[in-house]
Amino acid sequence: MNALAATNRNFRLASRLLGLDSKLEKSLLIPFREIKVECTIPKDDGTLATYVGFRIQHDNARGPMKGGIRYHPEVEPDEVNALAQLMTWKTAVAAIPYGGAKGGIGCNPRDLSKSELERLTRVFTQKIHDLIGIHTDVPAPDMGTNAQTMAWILDEYSKFHGHSPAVVTGKPIDLGGSLGREAATGRGVVYATEALLAEYGKSIKGMTFVIQGFGNVGSWASRLIHEKGGKVIAVSDITGALKNPNGIDIPELLKHKEATGSLKSFNGGDSMDPNELLVDECDVLIPCALGGVLNRENAADVKAKFIIEAANHPTDPEADEILSKKGVIILPDIYANAGGVTVSYFEWVQNIQGFMWDEEKVNQELKKYMTKAFHNIKNMCQSHDCNLRMGAFTLGVNRVARATILRGWEA
Ligand code: GLU
Repeated sequence: MNALAATNRNFRLASRLLGLDSKLEKSLLIPFREIKVECTIPKDDGTLATYVGFRIQHDNARGPMKGGIRYHPEVEPDEVNALAQLMTWKTAVAAIPYGGAKGGIGCNPRDLSKSELERLTRVFTQKIHDLIGIHTDVPAPDMGTNAQTMAWILDEYSKFHGHSPAVVTGKPIDLGGSLGREAATGRGVVYATEALLAEYGKSIKGMTFVIQGFGNVGSWASRLIHEKGGKVIAVSDITGALKNPNGIDIPELLKHKEATGSLKSFNGGDSMDPNELLVDECDVLIPCALGGVLNRENAADVKAKFIIEAANHPTDPEADEILSKKGVIILPDIYANAGGVTVSYFEWVQNIQGFMWDEEKVNQELKKYMTKAFHNIKNMCQSHDCNLRMGAFTLGVNRVARATILRGWEA
């Protein structure tokens, strides 16, 4: 099932549980606005290259639309649509005053030089600048983009609208970024994991973890889990996978990755098949990379007791069903990875206030939001007799539906 079909399916299931009117259901499902733009840039060698960029603005009932911009070869409309919709439910679950959006450019950022990436980002910003804004739609980093990308968007946007730091989040600290934003998604994943494990009388200390993806989210989650006494026994990135049943020395692996750019040739573990990693024996599996990695091909073989969805839609609906039948507890993406957008909200608030918080305050507030959202989800699970995914979806969809009804439709 493609990402959009899967996301729509989860939305409809939640809508039925909530008993939403079918007309309201339709209006919540269809995106507010879909933008598709052609981005042509001169490459460093003087030839021209054309890329397609998207910004899908899904819903703004609860506030400005919010979500990342992804640079990846698999960026296409259905995927971006699904991700935009997930942002709407995610910001509602996190109880931050935003709607949802997502954008991206179909490209492989690894094949582009820094100056090509800068030109591409500036052209993309020129094409969408009048449709984003501090109180309209606020982009942020996602896969293949980072604080530098946000700095270019901010600079380009400011040429048209004047200096506007709050138009993007996940910026460099020197341009008004928030302390703690860089680690926020990984840190939020860890707070979410702690909240879940506490329900089962467990904690991170002494448990075994398998982490798929060692980019921003996976590496921060690994580092914080290691600091809390969890044993990370396998990790992977696009260059390969690594296993050590005694626990990988994460600080050493981070140094190795920093120095070499990959996990390869690290001597603190044995290399393994990245596909095997997802079905490795462990207590907690944390997919931190692309969507759809848990599917009907591998779900029956998963041995983890808990899955924390740090990636967006890593589990397709067929896998969801198989895993539920096996009794695997899944903490859904729209809650588990909400730490990034939550600290984006803190960044936006700091920009608007013109006042900078210290990192301790950012992390404390993040913990408060993540813990509160978990308890709100649990309440929905109890009142609707459903699993955590439906608990999170009903929580998010209900908040957006209420805001939509209150605002009304009068033209
Ligand atoms: N790209 C992140 C996400 O998928 C963060 C979005 C944001 O901070 O706006 O949640």
